[in-house]
Amino acid sequence: MSVPVMINAFDSRNAANLDERTRDLVERRQRVLGQPYRMFYEEPVHFDWASGVRLYDAAGNTYLDAYNNVPCVGHCHPRVVAAIAEQAARLNVHTRYLDESIVGYAERLLAHFPAETNRLMLTCTGSEANDLALRIARNHTGGTGFIVTANAYHGISHAIAAMSPSLGLNVPLAVDVRTVAAPDPRLAASPEAVGAFFEREVRTAIADMQRHGIRPAALLVDTIFSSDGVFSEPAGFLAGAVAAIREAGGLFIADEVQAGFGRMGSHMWGFQRHGLVPDLVTMGKPMGNGYPIAGVVAREEVLERFAREARYFNTFGGNPVACAAATAVLDILRDEDLLANAATVGAHMKAGFEALSKRHDTIGDVRGQGLFLGVDILGADGAPSPGVAGDLVNALRRRRVLISASGPLGHVLKIRPPLPFSIADADELLQVCDEVLANL
Ligand code: PMP
Repeated sequence: MSVPVMINAFDSRNAANLDERTRDLVERRQRVLGQPYRMFYEEPVHFDWASGVRLYDAAGNTYLDAYNNVPCVGHCHPRVVAAIAEQAARLNVHTRYLDESIVGYAERLLAHFPAETNRLMLTCTGSEANDLALRIARNHTGGTGFIVTANAYHGISHAIAAMSPSLGLNVPLAVDVRTVAAPDPRLAASPEAVGAFFEREVRTAIADMQRHGIRPAALLVDTIFSSDGVFSEPAGFLAGAVAAIREAGGLFIADEVQAGFGRMGSHMWGFQRHGLVPDLVTMGKPMGNGYPIAGVVAREEVLERFAREARYFNTFGGNPVACAAATAVLDILRDEDLLANAATVGAHMKAGFEALSKRHDTIGDVRGQGLFLGVDILGADGAPSPGVAGDLVNALRRRRVLISASGPLGHVLKIRPPLPFSIADADELLQVCDEVLANL
């Protein structure tokens, strides 16, 4: 199990170096917010407004956003803002009354899914969506055992935090949770053997559960393995592992909170790259472009027993304003052809980082798909270096480029900008990275 990595976090010991206005806000924040909150960067950022892929501070400085996947169609997209405002001015109530907004949205969203996954339940956050998926999986299978990857993150509820090893040693995993190594090609015999490697991991975890009298309920994976370090190749590698969990009576839950809503470029959902139809799909973050909406898509047969034995109601989840925001996101993804953009700009950016890796020893493996890239950062000894990654992230922030690092050691640059990121934006990111790396 790993320890939580906070290499990019603000350290209050640096507060003395901040200008007076920033220091004052930092100090007020620290006086009133719960201590577990963290802030990014040695020198915190404080934005005033944002548009597209840019954020602006009160002094008028412009920042390039290569990090935020929530505003997937661009910060403060006017069509999302208008949809929220119009609906908020007309009606906003819970989902126990008939309303066109939720039904219309479900029809629109499910049209992006395989025919078998044909039911939608809405929540406010990805954590709630995963929590609900766990309850459904337990209920449907009668099992309690869950398999997750070694540095997975799936959310904040008690049940889900106990399946999120990236939270570290102080958040113990539940007794019926088993972890498997991430599908990292470097752990497999060859890149082509990733699928066989991952299937073996899952079969070993299932056997261990069974030895301990635990019945498997589900394999739960983030389909881009973001907190594990970003693993996307070769497409199709999940198939064997999914077959293994199904043979053992468990379900496959695809967590699309990171990969979903077109970020992969080639497809709307990460699981589609693997040629699979999940039993449950969870989603969130980009769904409302920042308005809280998340959800679970399920095969109807998986919900049957849950529907008989339980009820579902979420006070805010899927209310008309949330559905208006989410519908506008689907409209914009289509009208602005953002999947195609993610594919084109993502491929350009990946090639750019590969070229940078030839010039800078600091850059190791470059991975990912569409507008979700993972770039390994190495130290002078050629080993993964969270320290150098942290220095790079903070140096980029000083050059007004927003980025972050993650992975089990914290040495993987995580690049996942809003989807309207252009070739020119990608070139700017690459150029600034090149300059910063030359002086690191
Ligand atoms: N699943 C994954 C893969 C995530 O990355 C996250 C959030 N980082 C979640 C679930 C939880 O989503 P939320 O923060 O909306 O609860």
